[in-house]
Amino acid sequence: MEKRTLSELEQTHDFTRRHIGIQPEDQQAMLDELGASSLEALIEDTVPASIRLDDALQMADSVTEVNALAELKEKAAKNVVNKSYIGMGYHNTLVPNVILRNVMENPGWYTAYTPYQPEIAQGRLESLLNFQQVVMDLTGMDLANASLLDEATAAAEAMTLCKRSNRKKSNSFFIADDVHPQTIDVIKTRAEYFGFEIIVAPVAELDQHDVFGVQLQYPGTFGDISDIKAIIDQAKAQKAMVSVAADPLALVLMKSPGSLGADVVLGSAQRFGVPMGFGGPHAAFFASSDKLKRSVPGRIIGVSKDVRGNQALRMAMQTREQHIRRDKATSNICTAQALLANMSSFYAVYHGPEGLKTIAERVHRLTAILAQGLASKGLSSNDTYFDTITVNVGADQETIYQRALDAGCNLRKVGDNRLGVALDETTQAADVEQLFAVFLGDDHGVDLQALDAAITAGAATGLSADVRRDDAILSHPVFNSYHSETDMLRYMKKLENKDYSLAHGMIPLGSCTMKLNATAEMIPVTWPEFANMHPFAPADQVAGYHQMLEELEEQLVEITGYDKVSLQPNSGASGEYAGLLAIRKYQESIGEGHRDVCLIPSSAHGTNPASAAMMDMKIIVTKCDEQGNVDLADLAEKAEQHAENLSCLMITYPSTHGVYEEDIVEICEVIHKFGGQVYMDGANMNAQVGISKPGLIGSDVSHLNLHKTFAIPHGGGGPGMGPIGVKSHLAPFLASHKVSPVDGLNPENGAVAAAPFGSASILPITWMYNRMLGKSGLKASTQNAILGANYLTEKLSAHYPILYRGRNNKVAHECIVDIRPLKEASGVTEEDIAKRLMDYGFHAPTMSFPVAGTLMIEPTESESKGELDRFIEAMVKIRAEVERVQNGEWPADNNPLFNAPHTLADITNAWDRPYSVEEAVFPTAATRDSKFWPTVNRVDNVYGDRNFICSCPGIEAYQED
Ligand SMILES: *Cc1c(COP(=O)(O)O)cnc(C)c1O
Repeated sequence: MEKRTLSELEQTHDFTRRHIGIQPEDQQAMLDELGASSLEALIEDTVPASIRLDDALQMADSVTEVNALAELKEKAAKNVVNKSYIGMGYHNTLVPNVILRNVMENPGWYTAYTPYQPEIAQGRLESLLNFQQVVMDLTGMDLANASLLDEATAAAEAMTLCKRSNRKKSNSFFIADDVHPQTIDVIKTRAEYFGFEIIVAPVAELDQHDVFGVQLQYPGTFGDISDIKAIIDQAKAQKAMVSVAADPLALVLMKSPGSLGADVVLGSAQRFGVPMGFGGPHAAFFASSDKLKRSVPGRIIGVSKDVRGNQALRMAMQTREQHIRRDKATSNICTAQALLANMSSFYAVYHGPEGLKTIAERVHRLTAILAQGLASKGLSSNDTYFDTITVNVGADQETIYQRALDAGCNLRKVGDNRLGVALDETTQAADVEQLFAVFLGDDHGVDLQALDAAITAGAATGLSADVRRDDAILSHPVFNSYHSETDMLRYMKKLENKDYSLAHGMIPLGSCTMKLNATAEMIPVTWPEFANMHPFAPADQVAGYHQMLEELEEQLVEITGYDKVSLQPNSGASGEYAGLLAIRKYQESIGEGHRDVCLIPSSAHGTNPASAAMMDMKIIVTKCDEQGNVDLADLAEKAEQHAENLSCLMITYPSTHGVYEEDIVEICEVIHKFGGQVYMDGANMNAQVGISKPGLIGSDVSHLNLHKTFAIPHGGGGPGMGPIGVKSHLAPFLASHKVSPVDGLNPENGAVAAAPFGSASILPITWMYNRMLGKSGLKASTQNAILGANYLTEKLSAHYPILYRGRNNKVAHECIVDIRPLKEASGVTEEDIAKRLMDYGFHAPTMSFPVAGTLMIEPTESESKGELDRFIEAMVKIRAEVERVQNGEWPADNNPLFNAPHTLADITNAWDRPYSVEEAVFPTAATRDSKFWPTVNRVDNVYGDRNFICSCPGIEAYQED
């Protein structure tokens, strides 16, 4: 027997063959089905020569999981994790280990998709409903959404909501000067193109301004608690609306802003059990009064019922979303922070109201001891506080700051004579002792025990009785039932078991790219060096982060063909906004600030027009031809017609119809000819990496959905990251950050997210992905994604019409199955098929986007031939079922499709249907071997929207009148 070489023997450890589901021995059989001699030949057949990349990516080749992790660990080790007292909305927290391991590190939770298919998502829907209940209780508001991206963007959303919901003529928005500076930064960026004037001033000056809305911070960024009731009353007197950014742990003890009259209450749920992660991800919350419910941005989970009349949860009021309302949508928010909202809601479930009060009281007690101890030695600070004080240190600022650093502690510098200290749930008495030494010197002589005893005996603290809340919080049973680890583990597992995730099977959602989120990619996220970093930690403590980020930027620059990448936007939609902002700023810089027309093909994703609307652009919709291609003639005509004011085109490539348009290079040229820029929506990059580049094709800017193409998991509706790549002329206009300016950019450039690198702690996932695949693995992934999609298309086309195809009858990385003819003939709808797929053990493909009445299927490279065949089998059998409805064998309103999905309740009740139980729930051998049970029957969306309830059932239900 011939001996193998060392490199052949090392193949076992090649990550590429773990990432790509199609095994080498199956590849040729699949290619044969397509009449292609090789993978290269298939790509040549499929991808237009004009956009094909001739040379390989100029980057390193793959390394093994072990070596990539070792490389990254070396970088992580360059981070210095000091104890953070910086505060500013980011706090240390103790992630309960039971939540860390069983939710944050558990693919059953993190690989799920946004719960658009509620029958197989009741677990996370319940958990998100709990999140809303926590927020409603703490804020005292009527309703809450299921998360936004971060506190700063939530505040920007609040501003626009105030404007939309207020008939007042004013165009001015007032921000109290003790709002977190990053929030002010983001609001200012957002305000510019809405034409709002921003006033940042002490609240005492509110009466000197005529404004439509007010933003407050409660407690303020320096720790003080102002009398927000008085300010709210004053604002109301001038018919201004009030948004309050609040700290959730403080709200456990403090009067709710809702009870004081706020219209909107928002904030970050980070300190409820989610690591700081150098800025994210964590869930922002957003709560409002009843009358604003139709204007609230983001997703709201609501209570409805299924066809059996049983309670069932689902996302409510989808009609507000961009997919439906496009440029009239309430906001461009799509991906949010579902996974992190779930972690925070579990944190509240685990601790319960008493546990949270104990945590909050302890943090406050230690803060009081610190404040009083310092005051007793002549260092004064706030009179009012919850957990943050700002100490007057005069000329000693730098000395004390350095002493803190030497002790491994980060303080916040405020002005040139104060230092901020924010305590948190991890702070212990010994830490306060250490802070005394830092501020006062080793022989400080403060007696911590005596101070504690005095407070226990009744001495006042910074939280006076009239600020304290006296209403009950978290009284629902869910917050009072799972306080032992065993009970908690079982509750979380019970919910997890209701939900379909990639751990069960393929989630073939077109445009969403639900690929493998490899374990090795996920592991670094929870390394303390990455997880426990404050976003505003001093630069010399984050060298490892910066090195990883720089390398990631290099990888993405090479992959996209752009010149520079901004890692700030924390979702695709946020990237769209950042990209359009760069375009408009660039155009202003060359004296073309008047350009405000944005061309958007009718097939575009709804976030495109929604983002353009946020940039105050005029949206002109261009046509698509019957092949789904952008109608070049119509586009050219409109570009010419609007040449004077043409700002840009937003186009997705390959198109949302899943084809490589031949004309794309020409399309870019036409736009440039008329003075416009090309924004290429990068959601479909999984069909380009390693075989083409947006920069090469001729576009100027793109966002990349790292949670699609680059292996960050969807988390059941977030987190995500949407960095943008730009050509050099746009680079000077990328978002910077007022608190922590981004290297190489004008520090005056406004921020688009709360943290300079968005949700930085999930960026190692993409670094690992790129590093482990390397240039050949990245290319092979794209090639195999195209192979899988074309194989599926070929097999399905014998049974269903395929809506669009490109050259040589090929599709890109996804295909659209047209259900309309079947619907016409049989009455069976695309929704029936989507629900029936659940009975076969699948998550539905994307429904009715970009074309109503269709299913868009994207298998990704990570699915094996076996899984593709299982899906094909299901679709073929479903087609045969449709046939039986069509020929009258089954009544239109009593057949396996109409009744799908089937539950245990169906088969344990008397069975009187014209098909068998076997046909209903075990239609294939695969389902007999392993059955995924939907836990509710089909959910009634209309009922839920008419009887809108978004709080935990059983508690005083919030009912629409
Ligand atoms: C997913 C998607 C977006 C939006 O991205 P988010 O991260 O959800 O904000 C935009 N365009 C297309 C084509 C998409 O598929």
